[in-house]
Amino acid sequence: MSAAVSYERVREHLSALSMEAALDALDVVLENGQKQECTTVEVIDELFTRERDERFQRRIRTNLRLSGIATPKTLEAFDFTAQSQVSKKTIDELATLRFLHQGENLLFLGPPGVGKSHLAVGLALKAIEAGHRVYFLTLHDLISKSRAARSKNRLNSFIHTLIRPDLLVIDEVGYLPLEQHDATLIFEAVSKRYEKLKPIILTSNKTYASWGDFFPDPVLATALLDRLLHHATTISIRGESYRLRHRRLAGITPEIHPPK
Ligand code: ADP
Ligand code: MG
Repeated sequence: MSAAVSYERVREHLSALSMEAALDALDVVLENGQKQECTTVEVIDELFTRERDERFQRRIRTNLRLSGIATPKTLEAFDFTAQSQVSKKTIDELATLRFLHQGENLLFLGPPGVGKSHLAVGLALKAIEAGHRVYFLTLHDLISKSRAARSKNRLNSFIHTLIRPDLLVIDEVGYLPLEQHDATLIFEAVSKRYEKLKPIILTSNKTYASWGDFFPDPVLATALLDRLLHHATTISIRGESYRLRHRRLAGITPEIHPPK
């Protein structure tokens, strides 16, 4: 077979196999290979590497789109000097994603504005960049979605969306009281993830002792915490809200609106 015919066949194969990145790179890879006197296997390796890299990047883009993360706050943008309660070393260690591979939960606890959601999102982005599937939602969203799913008889499929991702992030736990069926659903999702060693990152303004206040059933609250905390790291952040601190340092007094 002549070189020209082989070349055309390779193009056809790549196209038929939907290897778009390899097809696009074919001429450059062949040319570089010739210039650098590469072996055939090196040229093949380079072609497949390009295809794999592009597929990986595509997967990351899709996973980010499906993750539910609306504001992608990064760990790099987190100012550790402004938050003495959080050690950079601890977050750097978490950013290695060992917790994810070991199925360890992370709980960020503390008052509003101290950076709990920022850190949770930052770690979720690290997981996405490493190719993992992540689902991020507030507890409020989780409950409205579960109610909508229940009314359409699609609750099982919704529970599945909570169990399937490699990492589930539930933000803002404790802001609103739960009803019994919401609590049961959360317990089911947490238990299934616990059995599968799939981690959860959770942020809450409540201490564990007060979980009984927004959980309708204290026995369920205890059983849930039992599973959540079995393999878990808790990061308690106290202190001032980041935004309020900035305003204070800038000499801007916060506007206080009287309750309506
Ligand atoms: P929380 O979830 O604890 O209520 P957030 O993570 O939503 O707080 O933080 C409130 C805002 O302040 C966000 O815009 C966040 O990016 C920012 N923020 C909080 N802490 C820091 C920090 N240490 N460095 C940079 N930005 C921060
Ligand atoms: Mg938050």
